[in-house]
Amino acid sequence: MLVEYPEYYNKFRCIADRCPDTCCAGWEVDLDEDAVSYYGIMPGPLGERIRACMKTEGEFCYFPLTKEGRCPFLDEKGLCEIILQAGDGSICQTCREYPRYYVQAGSYEQRDMSLSCPEVCRLVLDAPLPFRWIKEETDESDYEESDLTPERNRRLQEILRERDLEIERLQGKIPVKATPAKARGQQDVPREHPADRYRSRQCTDQEAEEQKVSQYSAVRKIYTCSGDDRNLCALLRKMEPISKKWTALRDELVREMESAASVSSENNGGGRDTAFGNAKKEGTGSFGESQSLRDSEENLLYHEGSCLDEWMTKIAVALTYRYWIDAWFTEDGDIASSRRLRDRLLRLTFLLCALRSRAIGAKTPGPEQAHSDILFAGAAEGAALGSSFARADLEEIARIISREVEHDEDNLALLKGICG
Ligand code: SF4
Repeated sequence: MLVEYPEYYNKFRCIADRCPDTCCAGWEVDLDEDAVSYYGIMPGPLGERIRACMKTEGEFCYFPLTKEGRCPFLDEKGLCEIILQAGDGSICQTCREYPRYYVQAGSYEQRDMSLSCPEVCRLVLDAPLPFRWIKEETDESDYEESDLTPERNRRLQEILRERDLEIERLQGKIPVKATPAKARGQQDVPREHPADRYRSRQCTDQEAEEQKVSQYSAVRKIYTCSGDDRNLCALLRKMEPISKKWTALRDELVREMESAASVSSENNGGGRDTAFGNAKKEGTGSFGESQSLRDSEENLLYHEGSCLDEWMTKIAVALTYRYWIDAWFTEDGDIASSRRLRDRLLRLTFLLCALRSRAIGAKTPGPEQAHSDILFAGAAEGAALGSSFARADLEEIARIISREVEHDEDNLALLKGICG
């Protein structure tokens, strides 16, 4: 079997009581069969306490969270009492493996770590570009030969090849030419985003066409593209509320996006209430201009564009590595749904960065700006706002999105566009 993992994978160490956001808070962890059997006969007061805490619902067994939303075995220092008293080997599989996860596709195993852990976010953003992966052949053959027909195997190899090419493109190894101005607006070319306007102040379209765009422009094109914002906004509304803080943050972003659409609609002679349902505007594919959210995007790009391009490229590469393999599990084996998911997660990340940057930059915050400030600052203990947008802000936003969106299968299906 071929096992693959990113270079930073082996550098991970849980920072335990120094973690600003323990994974043992907010999530109810399902106990695997082995853990249930082991806890069932565990001797002593710890065993009795564990059995008293375990709850079974249908085929699932778990530890219900305390009223503070924490695992009942998490002590006040943020350490696990089961590990402290009975050792690492006594915890369930999910706790033992998190934030690592494994995807097995035929004779290939992908190993990776979830951005929902702040230490993983830090490692990913610390890793130098281009990212590198380690491949190892093992003797394990933990798959059914009958599942891996020549046709399935061929598709698997194709998906891995397509993924590697995509990663090279994102990392600027395959040169991309600037989009010709006259081609913008054509069907398969992303429409120009207002946040790109600052570039045209400095060079004409002709010059831009002749110029090689920056190394990470492929990722900027994705995260600044507002062409899918209408759908993203509708999908965010449909998402299962995960936590109160996330729901409040999501609602704020949705309000901003809807306001952007209203402004655009008014500018086009429509009424406020027509922004999301105006048949005449259906299919325009863009939200158009907004007065505040778009300006915040533009400001963030103007001040932090080059750093942001590099940081967002790292997130984009991590998401591409994570999700391209999902295509192997679909009926048609097409990577389109993985690409949609990655692009929407990147856009969502950038929009929240713009909100956060606005909250930081507000000299005299209005009510909405102050609201963002509180939501972000409270999202993880110790995540106080700095005086300007920094890498730590992006790390925090990537972590929030991963924790609140990526860890829910229904949310992922919505963003992939495979359920409505
Ligand atoms: S979120 Fe990551 S660093 Fe924090 S306690 Fe969990 S595994 Fe450790």
